[in-house]
Amino acid sequence: MTVVTRFAPSPTGFLHLGGARTALFNWLYARHTGGKYLLRVEDTDRKRSTDDAIEAIFDSLRWLGLDWDDEPVFQHSRADRHAEVARELLANGRAYPCYCSPEELTAMREAARAEGRPVRYDGTWRDRDPSEAPEGVAPVIRLKAPQEGETVIPDHVQGDVTIANAQLDDMILLRSDGSPTYMLAVVVDDHDMGVTHVIRGDDHLTNAARQTQLFQAMDWSVPEFAHIPLIHGPDGAKLSKRHGAVGAEAYRDMGFLPEAMQNYLLRLGWGHGDDEIISREQAIAWFDLDGIGKSPARFDLDKLSSLNLHYLKQADDARLARLVAEHLTTILEREITDTDLALLEAAMPSMKERAKNLVELAENAAFYFRSRPLTFDAKASKLMSPDTLMLLGELGSGLAELPEWDAADIEAHVRAFAESHELGLGKVAQPLRAAVTGGTVSPPIFDVLAVFGREESLVRIREAVAAFS
Ligand code: GLU
Repeated sequence: MTVVTRFAPSPTGFLHLGGARTALFNWLYARHTGGKYLLRVEDTDRKRSTDDAIEAIFDSLRWLGLDWDDEPVFQHSRADRHAEVARELLANGRAYPCYCSPEELTAMREAARAEGRPVRYDGTWRDRDPSEAPEGVAPVIRLKAPQEGETVIPDHVQGDVTIANAQLDDMILLRSDGSPTYMLAVVVDDHDMGVTHVIRGDDHLTNAARQTQLFQAMDWSVPEFAHIPLIHGPDGAKLSKRHGAVGAEAYRDMGFLPEAMQNYLLRLGWGHGDDEIISREQAIAWFDLDGIGKSPARFDLDKLSSLNLHYLKQADDARLARLVAEHLTTILEREITDTDLALLEAAMPSMKERAKNLVELAENAAFYFRSRPLTFDAKASKLMSPDTLMLLGELGSGLAELPEWDAADIEAHVRAFAESHELGLGKVAQPLRAAVTGGTVSPPIFDVLAVFGREESLVRIREAVAAFS
């Protein structure tokens, strides 16, 4: 059997973290088994579904690298097919028309409440002859669900979940206007898409029982289920806006790397021994449904941040430069050119060890792109005493003669220079930093000089000396 999984978001907002994790698990299971991972947009709620939300969800999925197979299925466009299945059930006696008026249904509900019974449709039209149908009333179509026995969901995470059929009433499949209900749409789509494994949040567990009844009514094979516990906030309550950002795209904007997010979401509810750092390849090799935890996972921003640190250090410099550039455009309020990109890439090795995220990297790298003549901040200005300016002038001349322009040679020269003047390294390096960057905080100054290149560095030293002389 080829495994087919699907992710079925309702496009009523951004992709929240729970959804991102559900998508990841479905994707991983398909990739692990060599199966297919499909995408279905559950856009049947026409009022709340928007194109913007669809785009935002696709964007976040792409960002996370969760590429889907085949074209996405749009549930709303399949309404005719859903109705066709309802009519088929009607034709073979597994569904029936129900003509109850809204008033009758309200009365039914109220009576149940008054008698302390659970509120359920009482089967009024289940066995009634359609010839008794009131004139001019369009019926809904209800499933003739089994009334005795039980429905068992053998769930990969929850174990066997058993629900007495007496607890489930005859659900509506088709509304009186002919539109399919969500429950019908999901089952028909899962069947038609050949879905073999449904992996989703455990808020859908009770739906699984009704859906199972519907699969069985059609004599379709029931997919395997894995209902994963929801994500909770650090305080143990269900994750909500109150806990901070709940949309995946917000984490991209905060400068997290997708691989850090992916690793984090994977560990949030799935485990492989004590492994914390799990690469994409390892995740594909190891992922299974048995490793999914039974209790709700708690979202922990510190853990995500420490994974981000790890993946930043590992990231390829050219790629990092491109990602940092996205944030840098906002800071500099201008386009990033190819020359800028080359400079950024050269700057990455000495910067990526220290930054927590891409935004911080962009902020720390911004000084590379400030145009000359530099403005010097107060601390930098304070360093520029007449003695220091003399020193810088001399240092500049020495640096101009260096045979090679790389960080190690620059450092060796500056150290020797400081020693020959019987000064601590800081007494030379700090004014040098001030002269070249306009501030007193930067990546290691020898790396900065190497990144700027000889010519630019020397011009900066000269301009600083001139500015304060
Ligand atoms: N559209 C549903 C949701 O966003 C998912 C339904 C399903 O996975 O069966 O919660």
